[in-house]
Amino acid sequence: MKKIELLLPAGNFEKMKFALLYGADACYIGGRKYSLRAQASNFSIEDFTKACEFAHNLNKKIYATVNVIPRENEIDGIKDYLIDLEKANVDGIIVSSPVILYLAKTYTNLHVSISTQMSTLNTNAVNFFHEMGAERVVLGRELSIEEIEEIKNNTKAEIEVFIHGGMCSGYSGRCTLSNYLSNRDANRGGCAHSCRWDYKIYENNELMDIKEKFQIASKDMCALKYVKELYRLGIDSLKIEGRMKSVHYVATLAYSYRKLLDDLENNEYKGDEYYLKLLEASENRDYYTGFYNGVNDNKINLYSKNGLEANQSFLARVISYDKETNIAKIETRNYFVNEMVEVMSPGLDLYKVNILNIYKDNVEVEAARHALEILDIKIDKEVKENDIIRRPVL
Ligand code: SF4
Repeated sequence: MKKIELLLPAGNFEKMKFALLYGADACYIGGRKYSLRAQASNFSIEDFTKACEFAHNLNKKIYATVNVIPRENEIDGIKDYLIDLEKANVDGIIVSSPVILYLAKTYTNLHVSISTQMSTLNTNAVNFFHEMGAERVVLGRELSIEEIEEIKNNTKAEIEVFIHGGMCSGYSGRCTLSNYLSNRDANRGGCAHSCRWDYKIYENNELMDIKEKFQIASKDMCALKYVKELYRLGIDSLKIEGRMKSVHYVATLAYSYRKLLDDLENNEYKGDEYYLKLLEASENRDYYTGFYNGVNDNKINLYSKNGLEANQSFLARVISYDKETNIAKIETRNYFVNEMVEVMSPGLDLYKVNILNIYKDNVEVEAARHALEILDIKIDKEVKENDIIRRPVL
């Protein structure tokens, strides 16, 4: 069976590093220009060059999102930008406009993916983009597993599907709520998540008697239960959404889905519940399985709550570890004392360690009280740089 790609988002260099180290095969990154997440990114062309060096050293890939819907006066700039991205050694670009596909195929040899913003939902459309030169199509999120199978069986294009992350209330990228309500363009990286605001409902100018707040947002997608099937279908790439999320979120998702895919490849699948438990540590809103099981009803909506549970499980990131003294230098995230914690380390099973002492500037303290402090902790098992210390989930 061909290896399936695990593709994660990266809003900055640190998130990219953690995504790749914790199991992603590739990251997609929006640059400072011409991407929908321009605000979530600080990637200049020089940063793309460094990101590609880091990824290629690990035998992994970087895709640049160039998924703005361009206006007339942007075309020349986009052409030059694509040439610069090719020189930076990116492995491909993700586009949502035929003109960017055309410019990429005319002036570069870049691998091109058609973005989910193009809402590609049938084989004819996939094959059309493939004939126009796109190597890959990211399908719209609104397809059932049967429809995905039909498309995959009838195309030579690589197929990428979303398996995890936020969903739009409208077809992805075809929403102007934010534009109207906050003057922030969702198709220019500025979405204010207006669908998640609290609304009051009026009928014939009368405020309706609804006690709870009202929102029009969808739950987030977690299609973990369908990954076995997507693997069997030979889907080329599984995509996770969330460039604005934390390092802990990115690392937890990369770690959990990597474990699931490796276990599938080695015939060691442990059952859906095991991998769902691994994912639980990441901060998320309520989940549903997207459109994989067909068209959904109103149970997928979060009418009366944002659904985002506060999550304080991420305690610290390991900066270094001294084997002689058993002392780890860490950067803190949440409050902890001398207690048993869990270590998430790339390529290893989760394991527990005891924090025996906490030191600040060489003086013992009772607790880690502030985020982003550099502390030393004495522990009873080995850790290594970039390990994540958190409250146990297993
Ligand atoms: S307002 Fe909501 S539905 Fe519209 S683009 Fe933003 S997240 Fe998507």
